[in-house]
Amino acid sequence: RRARQEALRAEPATTRDGTRIEVAANINLPDQAAFALAQGAEGVGLMRTEFLFLESGVTPDEDSQFATYRAMIEAVQGKPLIVRALDIGGDKQVPHLRLPVEANPFLGVRGARLLLRRPDLMEPQLRALYRAAKEGGALSIMFPMVTSVQEVIALRAACDRIRAAIGAPEIPIGIMVEVPAAAVQADALARHVDFFSIGTNDLTQYVLAMDRQNPDLAAEADSLHPAVLRMIAMTVQAADRAGKWTGVCGGLAGDPFGAALLAGLGVRELSMTPRDIPAVKSALRGATLSQLQALSAQALDCATADEVRALEATLAPAEQ
Ligand code: PEP
Ligand code: MG
Repeated sequence: RRARQEALRAEPATTRDGTRIEVAANINLPDQAAFALAQGAEGVGLMRTEFLFLESGVTPDEDSQFATYRAMIEAVQGKPLIVRALDIGGDKQVPHLRLPVEANPFLGVRGARLLLRRPDLMEPQLRALYRAAKEGGALSIMFPMVTSVQEVIALRAACDRIRAAIGAPEIPIGIMVEVPAAAVQADALARHVDFFSIGTNDLTQYVLAMDRQNPDLAAEADSLHPAVLRMIAMTVQAADRAGKWTGVCGGLAGDPFGAALLAGLGVRELSMTPRDIPAVKSALRGATLSQLQALSAQALDCATADEVRALEATLAPAEQ
């Protein structure tokens, strides 16, 4: 039985009617890759690079970032790897950078906004990434906290310039959809990117105007709030129309019921904490895609997050 479970972990997650959902891991460092693969990760959907800055207490230079990205590419053994460009600010403060103190850091210069203001941070990272890509692997770059088309155009221009200077191959460039503006304008953004990855942690925070870290709001700051689900649906539909794929790398992807709903909404890649992978794969295998589509259509019509959660009882129990 144990052997069967182990074998099942390694299998892809396919719905009963044969739609494959890619299940990937959120990891920060190459030494976490072996555990993720053992849990059944089919790739890395989110490598949070701010960790390299937070851990060390210093800003890693281009060469040391290059070594880390190469090590990660090796560690994932040719599987897809999405590296997120630095997402600093908000809940991810890096004291040694001595950035200006902000009254509202979650609404401040964070993620892509900081990258575009600080070429001294963005350019060494992009150079390190393109140097790593030049040596092979299935690498993609993703930008956090994107709010506008202008930002994407500027970020892509930086990528193109650095890629050309290095003579590196073109690699997919995606953005996180984690701000309501990006979800609402997903059609316009989709024309400029290769993929979307929805960050349900920040998207929930910004759609509901509830601090993701405030313990008094933890119960209400619920990614199953129908307003959040409608934003996700809007994003996936716009991406589909543009022929681009949508993943989810926020916490909702790692919840078996959340994952089932997301698959029903049209999400085709889910990235999560490695330990959540086996249960999510098992939930996805328990239903047909048409059941999940019906489930998610009902969820979009629910009035409250509690009503959405109650739909879980209507899903057939998954086999493990
Ligand atoms: C998110 O916001 O959902 C996300 C995946 O990014 P982070 O949690 O790192 O902000
Ligand atoms: Mg985020």
